[in-house]
Amino acid sequence: MDDYLVNATGLKKSYGANHAVDGVSLYIPAGEIYGLVGADGAGKTTTLRLLVGALLPDAGAVNVCGYDVLKQTEQARSTIGYLSQRFSMYEDLTVLENIRFFAEIRGLSSSEWLPRSLEILDFVGLEKFKDRRAGQLSGGMKQKLGLASALVTRPRLLLLDEPTTGVDPVTRQDFWQLVIKLVGSRVGEGVSVIISTPYMDEASRCHRVGFMKNGRIIAEDTPYNLRALLNERILELRGSPLNILRRVAHQDVDVEDVQAFGDRLHIRVSDGKSKAVLKRLKTEIKKASGHVDELRSVPPVLEDVFIALSDQ
Ligand code: ATP
Repeated sequence: MDDYLVNATGLKKSYGANHAVDGVSLYIPAGEIYGLVGADGAGKTTTLRLLVGALLPDAGAVNVCGYDVLKQTEQARSTIGYLSQRFSMYEDLTVLENIRFFAEIRGLSSSEWLPRSLEILDFVGLEKFKDRRAGQLSGGMKQKLGLASALVTRPRLLLLDEPTTGVDPVTRQDFWQLVIKLVGSRVGEGVSVIISTPYMDEASRCHRVGFMKNGRIIAEDTPYNLRALLNERILELRGSPLNILRRVAHQDVDVEDVQAFGDRLHIRVSDGKSKAVLKRLKTEIKKASGHVDELRSVPPVLEDVFIALSDQ
């Protein structure tokens, strides 16, 4: 286990009868982008707060970069950059002053923080705005300032709690490009990233993903391997009217689930039944006066897998 930057075993945290985190173990090697993916309330934030030592677990142990987070909290924290959901900046201070504030409370001298800040601001593309007041930054720029602040202490582990929630798609895309670039860059220095998100498209960008539900990691693997769990099990149906298509699909004995994906349905079938269902559905839909524009087997997306695992 010494090869891992993060060794977290059997973490539990409850609020009364609510098991917010219910036996989570995480082993993260250097240079990995790990996605903690799940709906609101799944336990992502609580897990990250346990990793950074902001919360005491009811059970379990966390070791980050060789430090026990419970016993050597300060040393462990000095290796972590944490961008919390509630990250706030001083709107009256400039970009550089904000980073300075953050760096100084972490004990960095100006000979350390200034060159590092300029390097990071260049990396995130905010160097031209270093003297702009934070209150006058766009949403995307504020996020980059948050990332820059979390990076100023040269962390080996970066914890990003839903950094893209509520952000427009272009800014989200931009932010992800930065995270991916960071891990392989000189600025990142082999940093590992644990990023929480409710978005499945973002999960696909991670090296590994842990699907979280009810405080547990219900599946963990590379996006490729997770998708492979449902190979040959997803049919995509386009046609009309959707209510008839949906009803007929549900009635088939080998159909496990039907989900709407925009103007089409994703139909999950039992293992080995794809061809049989394809054939049957076309006939049954016709009988029910429905119309099929297209019905075909498609490669599963992570959302299909998450839904299937959540059903179990
Ligand atoms: P979100 O995106 O909504 O933050 P999440 O996956 O990060 O979702 P958590 O914030 O970790 O989930 O919450 C997990 C569960 O624990 C939820 O049911 C939440 O209501 C509960 N919870 C979290 N913090 C507290 C607290 N301080 N007191 C009581 N319950 C809490």
